[in-house]
Amino acid sequence: MKLRIASSLLALLIMVMAGCGAKQEAVETEQAAGALDTAAVVTASPAPTLAPTPTPVPTPKPNYIVDSAFQVVCETSVNMRAEPSSKAALVAEVPNGERVEVLSYAERYTEVKVISSGQVGYIIGGYLKPEEDLLGFAVVTAPFGETEDAAFNYTYDQMLLDIDALVSAYPDKLAVESAGKSVEGRELKVLVLGDVNAKHHVFVQGAIHAREHATAFLSMALAEKWLEDGLPYPEVCFHILPMSNPDGATVNQTLQFNKKIQAIYFDDGSTGRSTLAGAEYLAEWKANINGVDLNRNFDAMWDRVNTCPSPSYSDYRGDKAESEPETKALVAYTKKYDFDATVSYHATGSMIYWEFGPNSPVNEASLSLGRAVAGVSAYKMENDDGSSFGGYKDWASYKMNIPSITIEIGTRAAPLPGTDFYNIWLRNRDVLTAIAKWVTENGK
Ligand SMILES: [Zn+2]
Repeated sequence: MKLRIASSLLALLIMVMAGCGAKQEAVETEQAAGALDTAAVVTASPAPTLAPTPTPVPTPKPNYIVDSAFQVVCETSVNMRAEPSSKAALVAEVPNGERVEVLSYAERYTEVKVISSGQVGYIIGGYLKPEEDLLGFAVVTAPFGETEDAAFNYTYDQMLLDIDALVSAYPDKLAVESAGKSVEGRELKVLVLGDVNAKHHVFVQGAIHAREHATAFLSMALAEKWLEDGLPYPEVCFHILPMSNPDGATVNQTLQFNKKIQAIYFDDGSTGRSTLAGAEYLAEWKANINGVDLNRNFDAMWDRVNTCPSPSYSDYRGDKAESEPETKALVAYTKKYDFDATVSYHATGSMIYWEFGPNSPVNEASLSLGRAVAGVSAYKMENDDGSSFGGYKDWASYKMNIPSITIEIGTRAAPLPGTDFYNIWLRNRDVLTAIAKWVTENGK
């Protein structure tokens, strides 16, 4: 009962914090967030950096511009700034309901023109809802709640129903495989779009971080669009694993403790790794059900993962590399097909990570792949800052020599609010096309 009350309070808190009433703009990047999380435990001698002189990467000029009318959706008003940065000069406060035209995208900001005043500036893209329905899914169920500003919860069970519905709608174009099972026995379902004997194969995985489960919905939506478009590149077979961490996503969505999570909760509290209480703590959950951050559990310079010493809601690398069944499943599936490229969808920030230290044999190819995706999404290309190891993308590029990128989709902190999805969809709906074109020209 207490938990239920706490979760309503949490919902309110999330609305106040993430909602536009507070005009909050501070969203850290994933890597920076990790650094913050571990700062309390790791006080000295940070891991040696891998990339002392990062290669400067010019961000492609955004060419993905949507000029139809959008509405500002928020409690009171949002800040409009002169540049795409929370530190830039304040141009105006744009009230809820104001109509704007989208001019371009820049990281998590959208450049807009206010229709009534003609003022031009940058606001956080997640506060914009298009006036017409630009989603257009027929099968996959959009998980928006009663209010679009609340976090949307695309559950594992809903995903299974949607996968079945997609198979019924496209029986000749879609097959479903299992990559393995989660700790709690949930099947890690992979949608195989197109011919398994195709010349090129691409692996797309989402929601390896629990609270970033919006990427599972995005992955499903991308699968439906690709099917609806009739598999436009028949020589490219996409393998989409929408939810790599279903147990963790379920913790984040239901905000329910079990014994295991409770023990980790007390440990996180007593060691100061998290000061959050109850449901607020669970809303930050990023790990699998064992308290292992799956994206720190891969065998890619795993010993350098700057980690906390025991299971936690975030950032614990595990007892050894590939200790978790979800990690093992991703490794096995990646080895099963001769992939030309891999894409990992994450939610924090609006950028593309492509590099793994100076030594990955496929850095150049990953850079080229990332630029192809940046060309349609206008996400910023981000260099490796040398602090991140043990991720899926790291392993796939460093150990498997597969050109690999991570796409961070959100404009606000995860779990993402419903309105954020419009921005995400408009910037991602052509990503599979860009990747298919890239592998056709550059793949094996
Ligand atoms: Zn993530």
